[in-house]
Order: sequence, then C-alpha cells, then structure tokens
Amino acid sequence: MGCGIGGPVAAIALTKVGFSTVVYEAHLDPDHDRGSFLNTASNGVDALRLLGIGPRALEAGFSTPRMVMWSGTGKRLGDVANGRTSADGSTSVTIERRHLYRGLRDEASAHGIRIAHGKKLDGLAFDGDGVCVSFADGSSDRADLVVGADGIHSRVRTLIDPSCPAPRYTGQLSVGGITRGARISATPGEYHMIFGKRAFFGYSAPRAGEVYWFANVAEPETTREALAAVGSDAWKARLGALFEGDAGPAIEAIAATENIVAYPIFDMPRVPIWRREGAVLLGDAAHATSPSAGQGAALAIEDALVLAKCLRDVDGIEPALAAYEAQRRPRVEKVVKYSARVGGTKVPGPFGRWLRDLVMPYVLSRYANSDAHAWLYDSGLGWDERAETG
Ligand SMILES: Cc1cc2nc3c(=O)[nH]c(=O)nc-3n(C[C@H](O)[C@H](O)[C@H](O)COP(=O)(O)OP(=O)(O)OC[C@H]3O[C@@H](n4cnc5c(N)ncnc54)[C@H](O)[C@@H]3O)c2cc1C
Repeated sequence: MGCGIGGPVAAIALTKVGFSTVVYEAHLDPDHDRGSFLNTASNGVDALRLLGIGPRALEAGFSTPRMVMWSGTGKRLGDVANGRTSADGSTSVTIERRHLYRGLRDEASAHGIRIAHGKKLDGLAFDGDGVCVSFADGSSDRADLVVGADGIHSRVRTLIDPSCPAPRYTGQLSVGGITRGARISATPGEYHMIFGKRAFFGYSAPRAGEVYWFANVAEPETTREALAAVGSDAWKARLGALFEGDAGPAIEAIAATENIVAYPIFDMPRVPIWRREGAVLLGDAAHATSPSAGQGAALAIEDALVLAKCLRDVDGIEPALAAYEAQRRPRVEKVVKYSARVGGTKVPGPFGRWLRDLVMPYVLSRYANSDAHAWLYDSGLGWDERAETG
C-alpha cells in the first residue's frame, strides 16, 4: 500500500519470492508533490543492488560519499564519510525525489507489477482468512498479505492499532530546493553542512551552477499545507534574513532558486504494534526517522528486502512477519534515536556554538572514515542466505 519508496521495492522483492503483488497508491498523479531531493544512503543502495534494482532506479542521481562540516563563521570543522563505498564503487546517491520515485515505479512495472493510482486505502477487515482492503473510492480488494508502506501519516498503522501514537514533531522545518544557474562552484561528491548562527544550511553542488540545498529552521508545529501556502518569494526573504552574516553560499543559492519547498519534520520513535493478522507496516509507517541521518529511504528499502526473505524462508505468514519485526525493530529504532540526536544539535545558542566549534574538529577526526559508522551503513544484509528466524 503506497507507491513511495518502500512500496514498489517491497512489491519487487515479494514478486521475487513468489507473491503476486499490486501496489495501490492514493494519489492519482504519479508525480504529485514530489519536491526536492534526498540522500539515498549507501546501505539502501546496497539493498537495491541485492534485489537487482540498483543502477537504473538511481541513474538520475549523483554520488555523494563525503560530508564537510563548517561553522557559520567559515571555519572548517572537519569531514566525515557519508556512507560506505562498496566493492563495485557505488556510494550514497543524492537524487531528486521525483526521479527516485519514478525509477522505482519503472522497475516495478518492468517486473510485471500493476500500480493502481487514485486508490486511497480507507479500511481493513480482518476475518482470519486474509485481509479485505477498502478504498476511499468505494472499491475493495482481498489479499493474503497487506504491506502498509503508506508513509509517516500511515492509515494502515491506525487500522492495525487505533491507539498507536501520532508522529512526533521535531520542532524543525526542512526547507529546500535545487538551483540551476547560480554562480557557485561545483564540489562533486561532497555535502557541505554549515552550522549557521540562526539556522542550519546543507548543500551539494554536483556541477557548476547547480546546487541541491536544504535549510533546517526552528518553527512551532505547523502543517505541510500551511507551509505550501508561504510561497518561494516569502521563503527567500525569511531564509535570507536567517543566513545573513553566515559564511558560505546560502544566500546566493536561495536567491537563485525558483521553487522552494518546505516540510515540517516529524519522526516516530516507537510504533508499538507493527502487524496484525496478515497486515504489516514497512518504512516510515513503522519507524519514520528525521532526515538528519539521511536514512529514511535506505531503511524502507532494507525493510522490503528483509520482509521478502522472511516470507521466503519462514513457514507461514504470521511467523514470517514476526521474524521480520524481530530482525528490523532494534536497528530501525536505533537509527531513529540517532537521527533525532543529530538533528537536535543543529541550531544551538551562542555558548553551544562556541563549544561545538571548539570540540567538533576533535570529534569529527574520530569519525573521518566510514568504519566509525559501520553500524549505520553496514546492514549486514544479503539475499541468498536464509533469513534469521526470530
Ligand atoms: C524534508 C525531508 C527530507 C528527507 N530527506 C531524506 C534523505 O535525505 N534521505 C533519506 O533517506 N530520507 C529522507 N527523508 C525521509 C524519506 O523521505 C522517507 O523515509 C521515505 O520516503 C520513506 O519511504 P516510504 O515508502 O515509507 O514512504 P513514502 O515515500 O512517504 O511513500 C508513502 C506513499 O504512500 C502513499 N499513501 C499515503 N497514504 C495512503 C493511503 N491511505 N492509501 C494509499 N497510498 C497512500 C503516499 O502518497 C506515498 O506515495 C526525508 C523526509 C523529509 C520530509
């Protein structure tokens, strides 16, 4: 359920282990509202490769294996690996969201999977013999297994457990865009992360003049709709004031961007119930992480691979779903926690900034190579060996 990242990948993985799958997506327009870009971490790239989906789905992206950290005064604080480089040379990939989603949809179609758009899941009925799914348009379907890959505001999650907690607002917005034609020099392969005085600015410039950027801005809780109503010119004015006086290309990149999009950042620290009688959660529906660790997409892809392996190797759907949850829950909850911690350090007060600029170079020197974050980027997943059974 849901044709974002986890949905099509799960459909492909389940097809590989013998299921006949359909992907139902709420939106009628496949390219609706797919603004901005994301970092597909190397562990997600690895999992796609194991499923045989790698290169084509990501071909519109560019390699981003390193991150350089800067203070708002222009001091280089250090640099760290953004993921690992695999034996075939692949790394974390930055890609426009709409290109990744389209790439995954194309891969699913190439595997013979039907994608039905304009099908907003509304209800689930559990009768002990599969799951009956009903849609907002009045239609319905039956399945042995329903995978809720319907994102952070998942409907499947509330149908599996009506008392599940709501997503947690992190207190920050992510505002971003892609600039073409700015006079900013290219630094292929690198993200630059700038701890500004009033807000955080990150960017990568794969080609001269082209800048993929985002800003994290503190803001009381708001909605996606309210943010969409703000408009690019108003964002330019607001962000221009926030980054005034900071070193780096923030102001120029922002001013040269045609379309600026903004999201309130939520996460889901712990979803107590992931599954019920043939329905199971996957990706953000089960464990949305804030973007600070750049892991949400990769975790959804890993989930898909593990779910399919468990269904392949464990007898019976319920025991297989239990094995999937047992294998995934500790890892994803650890990543959500880690990402929340990273996000919380982005805009400290004056003393925090002073301390950070002093201490961070030493801390970063310990994390300069990718082994320091092996737990994050090495999922240890394979496809051919048997799934862990619990
Ligand atoms: C501003 C921002 C920046 C981010 N940056 C990064 C990053 O750099 N790296 C990274 O890895 N992650 C990033 N993330 C997180 C990442 O986008 C998610 O973790 C990832 O998209 C999760 O994939 P998913 O398939 O679970 O959900 P989604 O990609 O959200 O897909 C869910 C799909 O389900 C559909 N849907 C919803 N409700 C229904 C319904 N009732 N019936 C049918 N379909 C439904 C939706 O329309 C959507 O297509 C970012 C998130 C935000 C908000």
